[in-house]
Amino acid sequence: MKRIALHWKIIIGLFLGVIWALLSGFFGWSEFTINWIAPWGRIFINLLKLIAIPLVLFSIIGGIVGLGDPKNLGRMGVRTLLMYLLTTVVAVSLGLVIVNVVKPGVWMDTNVRTENRIAYELWAKQEGKTIHDKKRLLADPANKGLIDMVAERRGYDQDEAIQSRLKLAKDKRESRPLTFVEDMVPGNVFKAISDNGSMLKVIFFALFFGVGLLFVSDEKSSPVIQVINGLSEVFLKMVDLIMRGAPFFVFALMAGIVTEMAGDSPAKIFELFKGLTWYSLAVLFGLLLMAFVIYPSIMKFFVKRLTYKGFLKGISPAQMLAFSTSSSAATLPVTLECVEENLEVDPKVSSFVLPIGATVNMDGTSMYQAVAVVFLAQMHMIDLSFGQQLTIVLTATLASIGSAAIPSAGLVMLMIVLSSVGLNPAWIGIILPVDRILDMVRTVVNVTGDATVSCVIDELSNDAGTKS
Ligand code: ASP
Repeated sequence: MKRIALHWKIIIGLFLGVIWALLSGFFGWSEFTINWIAPWGRIFINLLKLIAIPLVLFSIIGGIVGLGDPKNLGRMGVRTLLMYLLTTVVAVSLGLVIVNVVKPGVWMDTNVRTENRIAYELWAKQEGKTIHDKKRLLADPANKGLIDMVAERRGYDQDEAIQSRLKLAKDKRESRPLTFVEDMVPGNVFKAISDNGSMLKVIFFALFFGVGLLFVSDEKSSPVIQVINGLSEVFLKMVDLIMRGAPFFVFALMAGIVTEMAGDSPAKIFELFKGLTWYSLAVLFGLLLMAFVIYPSIMKFFVKRLTYKGFLKGISPAQMLAFSTSSSAATLPVTLECVEENLEVDPKVSSFVLPIGATVNMDGTSMYQAVAVVFLAQMHMIDLSFGQQLTIVLTATLASIGSAAIPSAGLVMLMIVLSSVGLNPAWIGIILPVDRILDMVRTVVNVTGDATVSCVIDELSNDAGTKS
């Protein structure tokens, strides 16, 4: 009998999970689903996360040692960072074009937008923020009644979820320009590797250790290298074993996610989505453009040996996983496996390019942040100037680099982008209802972007003969 490929099994699991959640909403089984099925999804994510740090550590060290010559490392490092930066800036710019053309925030009811605008002006006054455009609804006496009503009704009380997210981002907002670099260098390596949130620190240590190893005599370094390569293999094997259960785990994940969103009334999901339809469609459209136009063009230009269809087929298990876990970090082990085994990228390249990409290169996230900020401005009747839009390019790029590769990280960092152009960070609460769905899709784009760049770097290294 012909065996069904893993990615098909995962897709089937994914659909069955959604169907189960809808049925369980219909028949009132939500509690059963949340108690007995959803935990398997979280166990799956933990299994993948448990491998992420050791894998990043050993694969980066192994990758650097494999390059043999520090000069190759420098060349590959510069190319990788440039490609990552380029794809991110393209994504943000594309997002800005789409949101300025589609104008999803303008489709809303004018009365609601006027109230939003008043609330914004009240907030700016209270916080002492500058309003950059010309409108001043507060100054118009004709609006007095409306202003009183908005002031009373909105009262700036944010619900708990927003408060906790605000708290999370507070430290980040207070950071200085070099905090980002400062945070990258761990004061204690054991502490860094015991915290999944410290991926950049782990990468820094792995790069440094790998470079150190290159300068040690063969006699001393070869046993270390053998151990590291051996450990890398073991962790990859563990991923392989976990992935055999992926279809079931993905079923459980989807059942849990959808049930938690919808509770006992499946219609709620559609309701949530409806109010934010144009915004969600604009984000989804941009993400699809990245996946089906931008990446294929990059591949076509740089990588002749692969068709985009072949590329997508090879990377699809990682994409499915990105979709169901919403985490590039949890997906990383599988991305590595797909890129090396299905796309035949040299492990020396992929083990260097992908772990870094999972942490710093998030094209989907940066695009979504650009669309979200302008959408929120539009629905508050705020005209963003060209300068403010340029600021968005810069901060969305930095915010996506700083976003952890975990669910909802992009939403938390969005507050920084909002603040950078003088908007209210608490507005993330408005798009919160649809964020999980968009998070799933933007994580797919994040992972696809990393895989694309790894193919390009592999090709360039082949051409230049920099691989030993
Ligand atoms: N979930 C995304 C990732 O892991 C990050 C985000 O946009 O929230 O790539």
